[in-house]
Amino acid sequence: MKSQKPNIRGLSNTELERFLQSIDQPSFRTLQIQQWLWQQNIDSFNQMTNLPYALRTKLQDHFELRNIHIHQCQFSQDQTIKFAFQLIDQHLIESVLIPTENRVTVCISSQVGCSLDCQFCATAQMKRIRNLYWWEIYQQVQLLQLKSIQYFQKPITNVVFMGMGEPLMNFNNVVKSLRLMTSDVGLNMSSQRFTVSTSGISKLIYKLADECLGVNLAVSLHTANQEIRKKIMPFSSKFPLDELLDSLIYWYQKTKIKIMFEYLVLKEVNDTVEDINQLVLFCQKVPCKVNFIEYNSIEGQGFEQAETSVISQYQKILSQHHIHSTIRRSRGGDIDAACGQLANKWNVAV
Ligand code: SAH
Repeated sequence: MKSQKPNIRGLSNTELERFLQSIDQPSFRTLQIQQWLWQQNIDSFNQMTNLPYALRTKLQDHFELRNIHIHQCQFSQDQTIKFAFQLIDQHLIESVLIPTENRVTVCISSQVGCSLDCQFCATAQMKRIRNLYWWEIYQQVQLLQLKSIQYFQKPITNVVFMGMGEPLMNFNNVVKSLRLMTSDVGLNMSSQRFTVSTSGISKLIYKLADECLGVNLAVSLHTANQEIRKKIMPFSSKFPLDELLDSLIYWYQKTKIKIMFEYLVLKEVNDTVEDINQLVLFCQKVPCKVNFIEYNSIEGQGFEQAETSVISQYQKILSQHHIHSTIRRSRGGDIDAACGQLANKWNVAV
């Protein structure tokens, strides 16, 4: 039978405070409960051992304590680990732990499926099923913190919103999760360690800038040509490149944080000198750097990574114009954990 009690994780600070006041609890209980919820791995009120028994019972009478759960994991030869989380309504989402020499990056999801229609991305084929709640976004990081220590003997250093979904299309939950992850009742991580990646929803880039969170912004640009962009990212006809650029200029003015453009170089799509020159012109208008992503092949979509020589040419011409660029090596491709491959394909039992 469906439970009628609300999940305590979904309460705001004020709601929790008000509830505790209504049952005559001293105000310090709010912090104690928050610490249990956001800093400990618990699944029952009885584990809140510094609360009086009567209060634990009261909490139990009024609320559920529900978590997302690790449902399955898969290990790549390159040490990347992909996790499927089961949400309380049984939907699955994916997150990826990616260790490098000095870092452990976690790539998290913000939606079940995705609102957008990038033609080269497997998640887009799933369509959007629902947005994640802020506490579900938070719990991916909270639970993978333990996995990072278990497998790599160090805590997570970076969090990127580059898993399933378009984070800006789930704006309020993403912002709330970021505030909690960076707060001292949450994970207490520095905001500089977070990157929100968007396909370029200009009106929401303004809004994110106005939140003053101090997080990094990545934009999946992939081409600086409006016509090509419309073909490979059809939704973008509603967010044309000139409007995107205006929003990015606003972002920089407001935050002073350089934008990172993510860029796939695809054969016969954006691999000519003209394409490179258009990118240079775009990049000259706003402080930025470019991150070339290796294309991970997705079944049935007919895209192909351009020749390595074209990417080198891109880098050379960008550098002649003093635009910094890097190449991001693909990780976890053998287990469908790489960029654009997250699509809940769990045919390998581990
Ligand atoms: N919706 C957000 C968050 C997803 S991030 C965004 O688009 O930014 C996932 C990144 O992987 C994006 O830069 C996306 O464009 C890129 N990507 C999608 N499909 C890919 C593929 N097949 N190979 C490599 N990168 C891909």
